[in-house]
Amino acid sequence: MLSDDLQFLEDCLAANELLFCRSCAQQTLHAHQEVVAVQPVATELLMECTHCYTVRRWLDWNSAQLTYRQRD
Ligand SMILES: [Zn+2]
Repeated sequence: MLSDDLQFLEDCLAANELLFCRSCAQQTLHAHQEVVAVQPVATELLMECTHCYTVRRWLDWNSAQLTYRQRD
């Protein structure tokens, strides 16, 4: 479980996700900007397109899986 926690933190620090950008009309790298909300099912994040700097919301379901594992 500890290694999963570290992996999650490393993922946050890496902070780049390949997401669809409406402005670019294609999959582009998005940089992690800030956490909007931590919900029971997922963490809601603001992600900024590294090409045109459009900010979009993104639900990170991986962190929810981590939460479920912690409950066990
Ligand atoms: Zn873009």
